[in-house]
Amino acid sequence: MVYLFFASHWTLSVLFQSLFQHRYAAHRMYTMRPRTERALHLCTALVQGSSYLDPRAYAILHREHHAYADTEKDPHSPAHQKNPLRMMLRTAQRYAGLLTRRIQPEARFLGGYPEWPALEKVFNSWPARLGFGALYTLFYRRFATRRWHWALLPAHFVMGPVHGAIVNWCGHRYGYRNFASRDASRNTLPMDVVCMGELFQNNHHARPASPDFAARRFELDPTWQVMRLLSRLKLIRLARVPTEDAHVAPVRPRERLTEPSFAVGS
Ligand SMILES: [Zn+2]
Ligand SMILES: [Zn+2]
Repeated sequence: MVYLFFASHWTLSVLFQSLFQHRYAAHRMYTMRPRTERALHLCTALVQGSSYLDPRAYAILHREHHAYADTEKDPHSPAHQKNPLRMMLRTAQRYAGLLTRRIQPEARFLGGYPEWPALEKVFNSWPARLGFGALYTLFYRRFATRRWHWALLPAHFVMGPVHGAIVNWCGHRYGYRNFASRDASRNTLPMDVVCMGELFQNNHHARPASPDFAARRFELDPTWQVMRLLSRLKLIRLARVPTEDAHVAPVRPRERLTEPSFAVGS
């Protein structure tokens, strides 16, 4: 039972991060009715619980990452940090500054993300974060049958930062490249079921407007499959549908970066 809970919380947290905060809030890869947006926003907050990520702060931080990928101004680049912990501490400081609006970002990174002040006030508060932590602990008290099961519990409290550390560190350090992008991005896994497609960093940096992070026949992006399903159910409207040949054509080694890093207000 503990394994099932851990696997579900891990998978759903990163799926909602990829689907809502990343592909919707930061990149506007699809649109939806206001009510559907609210439902998805609420589901994201409930699933991410203790480590819920504010869509506005996430979107700004992420747009900064695309604009300055692997330069000194990148908010999280392994090229400029000694280890994943240092990288994430720096990221957390910038995220906190954006969340509290102490940091004023460049105007071009503002706008186009969902805002729901009442929900943000509740889910970004310490009582809510600790409340979710208490619920995870109660679950372990009821279902943990081995002492080492408890070693998994802290990961539930910081699921979002753990995913961020894996994606931002591994995705710009380990793996193969399909595109000669200007940054150090890589595709860490050819079938990314661990981070639901987020580990196709090289494909994504080279083609930031493409909703499908897979670029070759053997690659699989699970979040894109979820988006296709939601689109078929008419819950979302894709801003852009990748053509078949974009997916299967041999990748040109020196494809240039011609697409915008993000599209806002579409
Ligand atoms: Zn992105
Ligand atoms: Zn990246």
